[in-house]
Amino acid sequence: MTIAIIAHDGKKAEMVQFLNTHKQILIKKNVDLISTGTTGQKAIKAGFTVNALKSGPLGGDAQIAALVAEDKVDMVLFFRDPLAKHPHEPDIFMLMRLCDVYDVPLATNPATASLLLKGSEI
Ligand code: PGA
Repeated sequence: MTIAIIAHDGKKAEMVQFLNTHKQILIKKNVDLISTGTTGQKAIKAGFTVNALKSGPLGGDAQIAALVAEDKVDMVLFFRDPLAKHPHEPDIFMLMRLCDVYDVPLATNPATASLLLKGSEI
């Protein structure tokens, strides 16, 4: 099972906390993590194995969107910061749009992410 993790700057600490809280379930489900660049670096620093792609503003969200379109991602955990502006907003919307096009589960906050992870039977 491949899960993409992305967190905006104001949400990166929450993402690391989320990963730590759900470590056992990630191991049990044999999850492969992919991520945008900086999110991935934070997770790697916290001890997780992550395939970190480009940083979000440099195309990382677009790379993950492409993988969604290629059916290579089973779930997207995207902790967006609704209080910040983002130069790569078109890429963010593209990623969310493609999750809907391909019916890929998408969580945009930790509460939903937790439910998705616990509810997934993959
Ligand atoms: P980052 O990208 O993990 O490289 O910070 C996330 C984003 O802003 O989409």
